[in-house]
Amino acid sequence: MSLLPAHREPITVMADGTVKQINPLSGTEVWTVPGRGHRPLVAGRASHMAEGPRGRGVPCAFCLERADEVPPEKARVVRSRGVTGATGAEEGGFVTLTAVPPEELHSTTPEFRRLPNLFEIVSYEYWRENHGLTPIAEARANHDRWLASPRGRELVLGVLRARFLSAGGSSETWGALDDDARLARSMAFFAGGHDLVVPRRHVTDDDPEALASSATLTPSEHTAYVRFTVASIERLYADIPAARYVAAFQNWLAPAGASFDHLHKQLVAIDEHGDQVQRELTRLTARSGLYAGHLQYARDQGLVIAENDHAVAFAGFGHRYPTLEVWAKDTDRRPFEMTRTQIDGVSDVLHALHVATGSDIPCNEEWHHRPADVDRAMPWRIELKWRISTLAGFEGGTRIFVTTLTPWALRDRALETLVAAQRDGRLAAGLRLART
Ligand SMILES: [Zn+2]
Repeated sequence: MSLLPAHREPITVMADGTVKQINPLSGTEVWTVPGRGHRPLVAGRASHMAEGPRGRGVPCAFCLERADEVPPEKARVVRSRGVTGATGAEEGGFVTLTAVPPEELHSTTPEFRRLPNLFEIVSYEYWRENHGLTPIAEARANHDRWLASPRGRELVLGVLRARFLSAGGSSETWGALDDDARLARSMAFFAGGHDLVVPRRHVTDDDPEALASSATLTPSEHTAYVRFTVASIERLYADIPAARYVAAFQNWLAPAGASFDHLHKQLVAIDEHGDQVQRELTRLTARSGLYAGHLQYARDQGLVIAENDHAVAFAGFGHRYPTLEVWAKDTDRRPFEMTRTQIDGVSDVLHALHVATGSDIPCNEEWHHRPADVDRAMPWRIELKWRISTLAGFEGGTRIFVTTLTPWALRDRALETLVAAQRDGRLAAGLRLART
């Protein structure tokens, strides 16, 4: 057996129990070393409340109590009871409202909102100046409606002022500007490429001290969350024709990079594929069965955790952090090209992985899908990375990452939680857990 990484099986168990892993999609090399896995995963509550403890009455900027402090929302999902009749029922009890006028922001309770990010990773100006982006008619009309409304104008100016001050501007300078100058960036809220999808709750309805993570959502709420995210990705591709990819991710808790302890996903349009997609495309050229082979290998290694008719979850290998993965079984279509049943299937399996993770483990949820300008099949898949270790000098020097959980230990741990959760009725119907 050759031990050169290029010739190795994705997983090699050494005589002493060290588990060496190579990720077939990225080439990332990881070792799980025996004896390092006995430490607790999180030291007590890992969370620090980024904006003060909500349970003691201090809402963050994503809370509805502070809805006037965020940029104009692009769309919201509300419970359909009382809003529409049969249509709402078809949506599973939720309905999407777009371009809600500023006067009506408080007329309904949004379960999820799609908000422009106040501080974009890739700015509206980037798209305008490098790609000649002009706002689509709908965005421009919405912008003009907001500014024509006294209430809308007041809200937009308030947010722009807050942005100006937090970027280092003084209130004197702001006060000396005329409205045209103050509103120079207002179109970015309506036609920009970095959105947030924000659920209603900061803490759970039952316990004001318990953060409302993905794990605390019901399967049906989680489905509404995922559907809305998928629709929002499609929207960004339509809004920004030069976008080659829309990155979608969810950072949970500060150690995973979240600046708020209020659950949210982020969607960022970019004009490149990003390094991960590029690595996969290179490997796909050399090996057309890359994805099917990867999934089959996970099955053969007994790493599958749960599946339904449309998606399968397994304990990943070759990730720098312990990673649970869900893959859509349709290997071709992008998320927004799938049927609602397929999307719901992926959501149900992803929800189970969040239940398996719980609310206390900081984690990154990373979505992968085929970019707009790639014509090779790439399955929609989502990785849930447990940020429970800190990279150190060994990793930096060798590019070999050390983790504390083998893929099988991760699977066993997840399954133990899921068996109990399924018994308690917390998981979606139709989910089949692997045998323990
Ligand atoms: Zn909040």
